[in-house]
Amino acid sequence: MTDTPEKIRCDACPVMCYIAPGQTGACDRYANEAGRIVRTDPVVMLSHSVEAGGRIVPFAARDWDGTPVPADAFVTGIGSGTTYPDYKPAPFIVASQVQGADMVTVVTEAIFSYCGVKVKIDTDRFLGPEGAVVRVQGEPIGHVTTAEYGSQMLSLGGVHHLTGGTKAEGRVTCAAMLALCNGEAVELAIDGGSTLVVQAGQAPIVDGVRERRMRVGCGSATIGMFAVQWQGLVDEVVVVDDHITGVVSEHQAGKVIGWPPSGIRIKGHRSTPGRYFKVSEPGQGWGGTRLTDPLEILGDWNPKKGARPGLRLLMVSTTGEQYAYYVLDDALRPVPQDLPESLKKSVELIDENCEPSLCTVLFVGGAGGSLRAGVAKNPVRLTQSVQGGVTRLTSGGAETFVWPGGGITFMVDVTRLPKGAFGYVPTPALVAPLEFTLPRADYLAMGGHADSIRTLDQSMAEGGEYPTAARVAPWP
Ligand code: SF4
Repeated sequence: MTDTPEKIRCDACPVMCYIAPGQTGACDRYANEAGRIVRTDPVVMLSHSVEAGGRIVPFAARDWDGTPVPADAFVTGIGSGTTYPDYKPAPFIVASQVQGADMVTVVTEAIFSYCGVKVKIDTDRFLGPEGAVVRVQGEPIGHVTTAEYGSQMLSLGGVHHLTGGTKAEGRVTCAAMLALCNGEAVELAIDGGSTLVVQAGQAPIVDGVRERRMRVGCGSATIGMFAVQWQGLVDEVVVVDDHITGVVSEHQAGKVIGWPPSGIRIKGHRSTPGRYFKVSEPGQGWGGTRLTDPLEILGDWNPKKGARPGLRLLMVSTTGEQYAYYVLDDALRPVPQDLPESLKKSVELIDENCEPSLCTVLFVGGAGGSLRAGVAKNPVRLTQSVQGGVTRLTSGGAETFVWPGGGITFMVDVTRLPKGAFGYVPTPALVAPLEFTLPRADYLAMGGHADSIRTLDQSMAEGGEYPTAARVAPWP
């Protein structure tokens, strides 16, 4: 349908752009090429028999050189086009044989207004209070959520930021999620906390400093792991941690190996022997506390419980990044000394046991909406089939985790997809590739679009609704 002779309308999303010849629509994913709408990116097919780099193969080409598409090519949703407005079958419904079984893969690009991004940032450093707003260019795009073991977590995007706020909030949220999902770096600012640069698979940069190490464990776990290595070399060890500070002489690990009491007193909330909460406030210092001087957490030493002049004390953080060694003087005050060679190894061992600090970005989308109609005429059957483990859901070929419960809410590690797999439309919403693979008999039984099932060769010979070419690439 046209409004002028030149422009034609793209109906692949609710924006319904009129596109002039040679131009692309608002999302750059569709173009007017010589009077017909084409998808601007090739469909990505993944094959185990293709070397790095891949190659482009035209669909429905009369002048095709005849080089066959590898028989094991898996058609991904990337570049395939959408089913919007969902009255029609998915762009590709491909029949295949897997170990002698007849299978079908339903391939589409899905538009997600309901989607978000979970970010795991491996750092001890305090990024901001739980619940604090995360901003990009001043716009709220998400919040800080529960800290996990050795990592700070952010929850970004979601329908309320995409569609429930101002236009600018929706636009910035969509752009930030798209960049994160496509592996680009994004600068985030947290209310009452840090500014950080996050990029999937890369170390976070917190207030301008690139993070190096993820903690070996909490202070208590560190005591458990290394108590034996310290025995005989030092009289007390404190592992400073914002969550659980450990004290070896009191800790069960110390008790078991016969570590004598030292008369130390920790200013903090004693949980169980040798495990202290709230020794300080969260911050950028030792073990995710605000401490730059760990002695701030020590009270008076008790000579009746083992404190004596000459007692040797090691204080260390959960990454081994910060450490200090003290010897008690005649007044039972800790006096800083150089770390003895014999203890250096144990501090290095903590460092060695810390994994590299990384950012992990998981895309979370709800695939339980109308796109299911592009898969089957009875959409709830698809949900039941995915939940029942009969239909396998992948995203750009990558494994997904499907949440139990209602709908098809899935998560995928964005680094497992081929580069540039995500797109957007300016409604605003993200576009992500989906593939549903299931036995042909089950597909037919759920009311699948039987007339639209084609073999790979047929798909190549006929093409899809929009695409003009496929890129055959190795599995990431
Ligand atoms: S935004 Fe993109 S998909 Fe949507 S109508 Fe315009 S060109 Fe088509």
